[in-house]
Amino acid sequence: MDASGSPVRLFCDAMLASLARWLRAAGYDTGLAPVDATDRAVLDACRAQSRILLTRDRHLAAHAGKGVMVLLLVSDGLDAQAAELATVLGIDWTRAPFSRCLLDNTPLREATADERTRVPPRARDLPGPFRACPACSRIYWPGSHVRRMQARMQLWSGQATSKPG
Ligand SMILES: [Zn+2]
Repeated sequence: MDASGSPVRLFCDAMLASLARWLRAAGYDTGLAPVDATDRAVLDACRAQSRILLTRDRHLAAHAGKGVMVLLLVSDGLDAQAAELATVLGIDWTRAPFSRCLLDNTPLREATADERTRVPPRARDLPGPFRACPACSRIYWPGSHVRRMQARMQLWSGQATSKPG
């Protein structure tokens, strides 16, 4: 467990950028390879940062070698991949919702009164939490987009526990 409380550290290859954002939304410390990263750069980053590589690229997985943990995802589509991660890695999709920036993975902090003035007026009366990213200054509040994402993650979490067998 790292300082921010993420039980596993993950790294998505560039093809899994969407999945990386969802993992961050669930509170998992998740790196993302730039689109132009070489296989070697991806594997070096995982080794140096002790991250589990998530990929759908058999070639990349086969070249991981010693010192890099790899999960080759076999599922197609976000819902199936979410279920696969819950089963194989024990990912809890309701672990720490919206505790990390979806764009850059930085742990969020409570938004200041000043930052809260940047929230659209119609959202200011929401119960919160209102959080801010110290890296990119993006503000997160429980508006309809965040609530929709949270509902989908709750669904994934239910699927994972109600699986037969
Ligand atoms: Zn950010």
